[in-house]
Amino acid sequence: MSDRGHRPGAVGPDRAGGRLRLGILSDIHANLEALDAALAFCQEQEVSEYLCLGDIVGYGADPDLCVERIRGLRCRAVAGNHDYAVVNRTSVKTFNEPARQAIYWTRERITAETREFLESLELVEAYRSFLLVHASPSGPGNWDYVLSLADAELEFSAFSEPACLVGHTHVPLAVRRHDYRSRAQRIVEPEFEIAANARYLINCGSVGQPRDGDPRLCVVLFDTRTNLMSFHRLSYDVGTAQRKIISAGLPVILAQRLSQGY
Ligand code: ZN
Repeated sequence: MSDRGHRPGAVGPDRAGGRLRLGILSDIHANLEALDAALAFCQEQEVSEYLCLGDIVGYGADPDLCVERIRGLRCRAVAGNHDYAVVNRTSVKTFNEPARQAIYWTRERITAETREFLESLELVEAYRSFLLVHASPSGPGNWDYVLSLADAELEFSAFSEPACLVGHTHVPLAVRRHDYRSRAQRIVEPEFEIAANARYLINCGSVGQPRDGDPRLCVVLFDTRTNLMSFHRLSYDVGTAQRKIISAGLPVILAQRLSQGY
């Protein structure tokens, strides 16, 4: 973990007058076609820094190339359960059968550099006023799923930063809470301001295996000048990602689910 700690104030710019656009990527799952489409979009949007919320590998057929892309971004990144399972830093006991098979497949194929990078990832990182954790701030290594507004509300006592960014469920979710006495509220707009008088728990969805019924990849942008956080859904070459999974001998269900978004 690096420089974690409370950072008071809004998530505003810290370079005088400078504008910084952040690209936030989660749950890539070795889907190179989705990752490259997300990165091309980020480039178009003049993103200059990235955050990665874990599960770079697992399920898909391109673990090495996806890790290489993320390493190349030199971004703040946390470990997901699949990243740690591949390098034996967490158990596969709770994984379902296709997920477990994909972990075994990945373990056998990745390069030493990929393994070293996955091993080096921490469970929690901080970046500016964001806390980054793959699953939940209340138990980063327990891999619990924060799915509902009620789940999210409980998590607010587990972090002190203005905003906590998570992944893991592959379902986008944004929750705002004004203070400890008020109830948390779900934010339904795809673009919203990170206000100085509130705190946020934001699930950034999944680049490589969306599960909210929308098969398009999900990428989140944050603009430090406007303090706007925005969710973007984009089509990508699902067919190629599916063909690679099948010809790699990975479970067919892992290909099928990509076109259905579950
Ligand atoms: Zn995942």
